[in-house]
Amino acid sequence: MQFKDVLVSESVKEQLLNQVREHRISHAQFFLAQPGSQAFAAAIAMGQYLCCEHPTETDSCGECPSCKQFTKLSHPDLHLYFPNCTTKEVAKDPDSIKLAQQFKDFVILHRYHISIEDWLNELGGENKQASINIRDCSHIVNQNSMRSYQGGYKIYVLWCVDRLYHAAAPKLLKTLEEPENQSLFILISEKPEQILSTILSRTQLVKFPRLSDDEVAVALQKDFPDMAGADARNIAILCEGDYTKALKIHQDDADQHEMLTQFDQLMHSAVALSRQNMSDCRYDEAQEVIEQIVKQGREYQKQFITLTIRMLRNILMTNTRHPEMVKATAYETEILSEYTGIIQLKQASLMTEECNKALYHISRNGNTAIILTDLIFKLAACLK
Ligand SMILES: [Zn+2]
Repeated sequence: MQFKDVLVSESVKEQLLNQVREHRISHAQFFLAQPGSQAFAAAIAMGQYLCCEHPTETDSCGECPSCKQFTKLSHPDLHLYFPNCTTKEVAKDPDSIKLAQQFKDFVILHRYHISIEDWLNELGGENKQASINIRDCSHIVNQNSMRSYQGGYKIYVLWCVDRLYHAAAPKLLKTLEEPENQSLFILISEKPEQILSTILSRTQLVKFPRLSDDEVAVALQKDFPDMAGADARNIAILCEGDYTKALKIHQDDADQHEMLTQFDQLMHSAVALSRQNMSDCRYDEAQEVIEQIVKQGREYQKQFITLTIRMLRNILMTNTRHPEMVKATAYETEILSEYTGIIQLKQASLMTEECNKALYHISRNGNTAIILTDLIFKLAACLK
């Protein structure tokens, strides 16, 4: 991974390159990431740059043997640590070394646009507690006590370090404070509040800002040359600076369209119910829609409720006369226009509360058919 291919603002790249130019590379750094901000890719680019045999002022060469090994994430002095748990293949004592190949394949397949949710799915352990565990910490300490394979830097990347098992953390403190020469530890997380302060205080902070709508739109059109400018812009608005999410939105465009239609149908039923207009209530249709949603699985169900919450927020923003805060595509705007006159400010807020409760119950593996049916009646009650 070269710096030129990392989707991150230029100021961050400059900050990292300046460390090298000014010979003041901090041996333990904390990359404070935003969702989809490619901090992991930047960490690899930094490692590759430090190990490159022919670096330029601004990037690694991409062609020397060391760079080629980095491209495959197989450089012997690159050590990757990430949340792990038992899987079908690793049934006992999991650690980042046993799962390394699976993780590398995952990163490369997703072109470095990785999220913890996708990684947990990959592990097949959606409900499992995946962590960077005590065995991982022992490996780090042992590896750091040995010389580097190629005589240069040893790079340690700890991805999602908020999942570092707290009881294991003290093992790392000394290594982070006084590592062997030419070691670089890059700790990455989006959730600094979940990291022990004793760990954070031993690192230097590098902040990754959220990508702007423009940066996302430009990147999308680079990745998908056929995408129309307006579509790229729409996705950029929806993904809120998270490029991993932007890619998903693009893939799920059809799903999204279907979901919006379902939102429209269910909201129509709720409005009709609130007016006790049973002939217009289309209750059977509502039940059919609920059946469709139930069939799609729990992830989809959560996405559906999240979309409903976002639509309600947009209705709220329109009604508070803040149309500039509305983040909606053309199709969404069309649907929103049906409801902004019907759903008042207070109602939108109550309805959002009900949706949040439904989301909670769905996350806790409640019966979705019952939760959604109940939700329609509750939404109707809010509208009365
Ligand atoms: Zn190189």
